Amino acid sequence: MSDPIQSLHDLRFHDLETELEAAGVSKSHARALFGATHRLADPNPADRTDFPPPLRRWVQTHAAPGQRLSPETPEITAEIPSMDGLTHKFLLKLRDGQTVETVAMGYPGRFTACLSTQAGCAMGCVFCATGQMGFVRHLRPGEIVAQALVAQRHLRAAGHSGLRNLVLMGMGEPLHNYDSVMQALEILCDTRGLNLGPSRISISTVGLVPAIRRMAEEKRPYHLAVSLHAASDAERSALLPVNQRWPLAELLEACRFYNQQTGQRIFFGWTLIEGINDSPDHAIRLAALLEGVNAHVNLIPLNPTPAFHGAPPEDAAGRAFQKILRASGIPSTIRQRRGIDVDAGCGQLRAERRPGKAVSGSSPAPEPVTGP
Ligand code: SAH
Ligand code: SF4
Repeated sequence: MSDPIQSLHDLRFHDLETELEAAGVSKSHARALFGATHRLADPNPADRTDFPPPLRRWVQTHAAPGQRLSPETPEITAEIPSMDGLTHKFLLKLRDGQTVETVAMGYPGRFTACLSTQAGCAMGCVFCATGQMGFVRHLRPGEIVAQALVAQRHLRAAGHSGLRNLVLMGMGEPLHNYDSVMQALEILCDTRGLNLGPSRISISTVGLVPAIRRMAEEKRPYHLAVSLHAASDAERSALLPVNQRWPLAELLEACRFYNQQTGQRIFFGWTLIEGINDSPDHAIRLAALLEGVNAHVNLIPLNPTPAFHGAPPEDAAGRAFQKILRASGIPSTIRQRRGIDVDAGCGQLRAERRPGKAVSGSSPAPEPVTGP
């Protein structure tokens, strides 16, 4: 098995202390280095002149570019800014050439980063550009952490306040890469580093039942979003192949268990697709399915993708859907994705990024698509 620690950004605080001690350097220096790497988001701490000499020597011999713990510095290969400057989509190239998408988005005072957790995805959801490209590999913790730091540097350079919220709704299925995701979040929430609040982080899953149960048992302090999209097994399996493995009854049982164990509400994602899952009857069946579940529903009009012949419904259908949920006492929000260009939805920037294709452009800011 390859060493899971391949960069400075893969290290939790105590891993860094262990590395320093193993090299005969006082672990008390971990705080300065961790602070520079994460709180200050310095991409190359080997250049810092404010470290005490033993730490400086260690960084230059162990954590400078080219060394075992070199910093994770993904190259920005494409960017799509928004007209108002508040949303910015990045295509990031990892060390092995794989590319993933990260989005910094939001409104002053509540900036959110949307991070990828895998290159590609194994789940094959038919309307998703990432699913259409298949699975490539899991991301390491450092590759997930580094995306948040790219967003943080971008926000600071633009004169905004720093990152406050995270959603794991970029490329990949976070709960298929459970350990790396949890390690990355531990690093990002460390008070000596970026210090993000766990209650400001949402993990979105297609519905990996054992991992939802594990999150509940471990009482992970993050918000959980479950992508539902259909309220019968036949309809859901047609959109989300994973439903054949964990059908709705098992998924909803795991969701109830999560509610009980954590006391937390679950955010259910429902991508509205015209003529497929946007009728009043679908809303009635969704309301019945969620009876007794502590739930909030996020309705998201489909963002068209090349390999799926579907369209978002008219706004009126979304409003009618929401009215039925409201009548059943289920809170919901319609999340407009109007800010996302045709080639800039989830996974689409990478899918469309072929030689010669221009990717810069402008689009109004999308809202965070999940979470509180
Ligand atoms: N794998 C996780 C998280 C990444 S996908 C999951 O599936 O939940 C994030 C969300 O975007 C999911 O709810 C997914 O169903 C939705 N999504 C994917 N492709 C979409 C598209 N073309 N239009 C609208 N929503 C989409
Ligand atoms: Fe993977 Fe989520 Fe896309 Fe499904 S919707 S293929 S789980 S990224």
